[in-house]
Amino acid sequence: MLETRNLRAGYGHITVLWDVSLAFREGALTAIVGPNGAGKTTLLRALTGLIPHQGEILLGGAPLAGKTWDLAGQGIVLVPEGRMVFRDMSVEENLCLGAYPKRSRGDLSASLERVYGLFPRLKERYRQAAGSLSGGEAQMVAMGRGLMSKPRILLIDEPSLGLAPVIVQEVFEIIRRLKAEGTTIVLIEQNTSIALSVADDVHLLRAGKVLLSEPAAQVQIERLHDLYFAREAKTA
Ligand code: ATP
Repeated sequence: MLETRNLRAGYGHITVLWDVSLAFREGALTAIVGPNGAGKTTLLRALTGLIPHQGEILLGGAPLAGKTWDLAGQGIVLVPEGRMVFRDMSVEENLCLGAYPKRSRGDLSASLERVYGLFPRLKERYRQAAGSLSGGEAQMVAMGRGLMSKPRILLIDEPSLGLAPVIVQEVFEIIRRLKAEGTTIVLIEQNTSIALSVADDVHLLRAGKVLLSEPAAQVQIERLHDLYFAREAKTA
């Protein structure tokens, strides 16, 4: 469905991603794991047109072009690292911003009900300023705002960042539900065990290169960690 071919991207003269070729299958959850600075967020920025790139990004075989807002209109939606909620706006105002693309404006109240169904805690706090929410609640707002756009492909960047384990479990329960509903998901995650527990396909990125691409069920965790931490594989 979504594919990159020899994707290069970075900042100014610094190249971060080096010829990254990846395929994200329709209806599947693809996890991108890798250490700090591997280029995971940069990959999502390139996919969503936030930074320029070289190489190809294809959607359904055709080149994907446009800026972030055009892509949201085509159903490619980013839930950014660090939540990026509008702190002075209420929970519900933040959610409604997600329904701005033309294709999602029509059913605002049905979409809100769906999001409140997934995140009852947001319904209880719908008038509260987003800046006063806990980290877990803010992550729910960021995911809910993404869902308001009715994504065909949801790109989620480090949803577990800075959250207590019990809240991480709650957030991943929702990700599991979205996957079960058939949403195509690209998940960036540093926590390999939680990523593997939910993923269909896994790619390991380190220093801007893809070191491993496998179905999650086939991943050998020791080998993944050897590559992740750049350590010598243990010999028997
Ligand atoms: P983390 O898990 O720590 O978020 P990551 O794999 O998402 O890491 P990126 O955020 O993509 O990594 O960063 C990759 C490299 O690009 C890093 O060396 C980082 O310092 C650099 N970088 C990121 N954003 C910028 C920027 N706006 N300007 C310059 N360099 C940047």
